Amino acid sequence: MSAKVIDCVAIAEEIKKELMSDIEGLKKKGISVGIATVLVGDDFGARMYRGQIEKFCQEMGVEYTNANPSSDASEADVVKVVEELNENDKVSGIIPLRPFPEHISDYAIINTIELNKDIDCFHPYNMGKLTLGEITFAPATPAACIEIMDREKVNFEGAEIVVVGHSNIVGKPISILCLNRNATTSTTHIFTSMAKNLEKHTTGADILIVAAGKANLITPAQVKEGAFVIDVGINRVKVLDENGEPVLNEKGKPKTKTVGDVDFDAVKEKAGKITPVPGGVGAITNMMLMRNTVKAAKVQHGLE
Ligand code: NAD
Repeated sequence: MSAKVIDCVAIAEEIKKELMSDIEGLKKKGISVGIATVLVGDDFGARMYRGQIEKFCQEMGVEYTNANPSSDASEADVVKVVEELNENDKVSGIIPLRPFPEHISDYAIINTIELNKDIDCFHPYNMGKLTLGEITFAPATPAACIEIMDREKVNFEGAEIVVVGHSNIVGKPISILCLNRNATTSTTHIFTSMAKNLEKHTTGADILIVAAGKANLITPAQVKEGAFVIDVGINRVKVLDENGEPVLNEKGKPKTKTVGDVDFDAVKEKAGKITPVPGGVGAITNMMLMRNTVKAAKVQHGLE
């Protein structure tokens, strides 16, 4: 039987409506909700992400501040920019857009962000609180995974949850959030794969959350019958024809498409529930960031 494909876009739309009504309510009380991004220089990926944030801000009535020091700005200059954003009442949340130029340490910038404006939970203090289960802001992508599981009424207690990927911003906090809810969690990563042990863990998972950044990493052989598979990965791959040759676009360049880390079509036939890519976790991640921003505005005005 084919898995239930979770309609993450519909979930995101629902959350968006709830948040927009919240934002309106705050505006009526004279409280503005705003996001500032800090991009140093002009990294392509960071600019793309900034564009997305700006678009959501416009659509949802959230103030947007673009802090964009040039790539030759000193670390002290960028710290000063963040300090000014900390003081700015129009800015509820600050998002550092990495990578920064090599002469600027991530930690110097992140550690400067006011704790109540750290909406993607980068600051070590907020990450420490997350580990203790005293969450101010859960990082957006892990929060999106939890939101999906909550909406599917997952019973965390005792569930076997396996996370593939252990980055500080995705895999590790997902594991911690599941552990905080008393799931039995295993965190696997590249060294698990290199030791040829990945399948040993993933086939025992009631819920398998994959955040590795490797297309087709998870095939049906690695999935337990009826498991809930959440695919966080985002990968650009070439579109191939039936002979395995790249399909070319009108400019003669290989066509590309976005896929996750899971072989969706094949795994769908074995899993119980699955999230697609595109139109999966990513859609909800954006709304989690907005939800954290609204929460930040409330916290800063003593409403939470
Ligand atoms: P990262 O590169 O920082 O970490 C990748 C993790 O995957 C590491 O822990 C690594 O050990 C593990 N890994 C890599 N290859 C593996 C393999 N063959 N077997 C097992 N583990 C392996 O990446 P990240 O920032 O954690 O992001 C992970 C993926 O999630 C990327 O595709 C990224 O684009 C995507 N992402 C999606 C969203 C979203 O909202 N959907 C948000 C952030 C990141």
